[in-house]
Amino acid sequence: MVSATRKMIDCRWFPSETQCSLTIAGTEEEVLTVARQHAVASHGHKDDQALVEALRGAMRDEG
Ligand SMILES: [Zn+2]
Repeated sequence: MVSATRKMIDCRWFPSETQCSLTIAGTEEEVLTVARQHAVASHGHKDDQALVEALRGAMRDEG
C-alpha cells in the first residue's frame, strides 16, 4: 500500500481581498490541482508556472 503524505494549503496564508478561509488537504497532486483551480476561479490568478510554484512552495505537511 502506498502511503502518501497528506499536504495542506490554507488561503488564510495568502493575503487576499476576499478574506478567503478555504483549507485544502489531500495528496500533493490533489491539493495542487484544486488549489490551482481555486486560485484562478476565486482569486483571479493567472494559471501559469509561477502560480504552480507558489502553491507548491506554500504547501505544508498536514498534522
Ligand atoms: Zn481562496
